[in-house]
Amino acid sequence: MTAPARPPECRALAPLLAEQASGALAPDDARRVEAHLAGCAACRAEADAYAEAFALVRLPAPAEAERAALSDLPDRTLAALRRADARRAAWRPVAAGVFAAAAAAAIILAPAALLHPRHAPPATPAAATSGGATSNDASGAATTGSDSEPDAEAAWDDATAEDDSADGSGTEGDLALAAFDAAHPGDSE
Ligand SMILES: [Zn+2]
Repeated sequence: MTAPARPPECRALAPLLAEQASGALAPDDARRVEAHLAGCAACRAEADAYAEAFALVRLPAPAEAERAALSDLPDRTLAALRRADARRAAWRPVAAGVFAAAAAAAIILAPAALLHPRHAPPATPAAATSGGATSNDASGAATTGSDSEPDAEAAWDDATAEDDSADGSGTEGDLALAAFDAAHPGDSE
């Protein structure tokens, strides 16, 4: 039970019927389809079916404002992409420079932070057993009693003075303990 074979002209026009229903048919083809439909009930029925189907899915024609907004969309999209690329390209060396500057600042500031402890922790004999700890503790002790900015030079002088005063008293740990005791007379046992 197969459909009866359609004349060659109907088979040739079949693809155009769908295009006609969608409104995308070229004027020449439209005239050809119209001429054929006038004398072919089978193709008219098919064309009506297409028209009905397309009527269900067809969106309203875009308004003039929508056409205007969409007309240069590819250009605007490409321009926006190029601007974004340009911004990224411009930021890349800046970011690299910022990171490099931050790294350099960390290297430069790290020793300064060691020499200028704003809140030096209370020195303990255990922490004062090394030479580095001694100078740090001494600098912290030197600034404990004043509100002035910590002075590395004065701290160094104090530390060396303490070392000189305790000279000959024994090991380096003893030197540190002596410096600590001198800097914290109330804390010593
Ligand atoms: Zn036909």
